[in-house]
Amino acid sequence: MDRYQVIIIGGGPAGLSCAIWLTKLGASSLLLEASGGLGGLQTRSPYENLWIPGVQGKTGQQVAASIAAHALDVGAELRVGQRVAAVARDGDGFRVATPEAEVHGRFVVIATGSTPRTGGFTSSATVAIGPGEPMEALDVAGRAVAILGGGDNAFDQARFVRDRGGHVTVFSRGVPRAQTLLQALVPDVPVIVGAYEARQSDMTVNGQHFDCFGIQYGFEAVVPAGLDIKRQGGYVEVDRFGETSVADVFACGEVTDFWHPCVTTSAAHGVQVAKQISKRL
Ligand SMILES: Cc1cc2nc3c(=O)[nH]c(=O)nc-3n(C[C@H](O)[C@H](O)[C@H](O)COP(=O)(O)OP(=O)(O)OC[C@H]3O[C@@H](n4cnc5c(N)ncnc54)[C@H](O)[C@@H]3O)c2cc1C
Repeated sequence: MDRYQVIIIGGGPAGLSCAIWLTKLGASSLLLEASGGLGGLQTRSPYENLWIPGVQGKTGQQVAASIAAHALDVGAELRVGQRVAAVARDGDGFRVATPEAEVHGRFVVIATGSTPRTGGFTSSATVAIGPGEPMEALDVAGRAVAILGGGDNAFDQARFVRDRGGHVTVFSRGVPRAQTLLQALVPDVPVIVGAYEARQSDMTVNGQHFDCFGIQYGFEAVVPAGLDIKRQGGYVEVDRFGETSVADVFACGEVTDFWHPCVTTSAAHGVQVAKQISKRL
């Protein structure tokens, strides 16, 4: 079994930043990423990322590519297509298993981020789950589109669908939580507030037919199985050094109960965790 000082699970901005710093600090680390590419949620975003200090004129997808390129440039060991199925204590460290292999790490970093809530819907050519690429893939021009949800993403996506020529209606079970600024940008979009019945089987909401659904029910943490880790509202609880309730297991980025609104904070958290672990090696 290959042995490393640190195994990082997840190749989004948090995990990649952690890998960059650990590599530059001289630690042996391996990053395992479940999907076929690196960059995490940023790979879903074809929109310009206006929020990273000092980085301008790049889409989320370009930001993802450039963080990944940076990690490769510094010589970080990164493996894609490796979904971690289980983590277990093993001697002085942890055994981390993917369907293909098992590796051993003295420390583990959980950087598995978050994923859009499905609300029981299944993604398809007419149903997009979460914001970004899946919504952009819907053929909306001239078609009736129901956006389900009342948060920022619901209203952002309603605006994008409207601007692409879709006839959009927002359904929100309660008073919309979206920033008033975002709501004000779609004064022409009907917003139906109250309980509703949405059925994918015949593409109806309260009996009214729609060509497409955009499910915008927010995000939930993705936590690999195996360790009995304390959580807060589903998110991994960490101390101010990024350590979880399991000694020597750290977590960073959107999977944690820190408030992580963006790439900058997630990446910074990955850096803090790398520094903390390097002090213990
Ligand atoms: C459409 C969209 C637009 C956005 N726009 C912006 C923006 O403009 N500016 C901004 O700053 N932020 C933006 N964000 C938010 C930003 O992308 C996130 O804050 C950031 O990606 C979080 O980084 P992370 O590394 O913590 O988690 P993630 O990006 O979620 O990465 C986690 C990674 O872990 C992997 N993983 C999960 N489980 C496993 C497992 N068991 N084994 C191995 N790997 C696993 C996942 O495949 C994923 O690649 C946007 C998000 C979306 C969805």
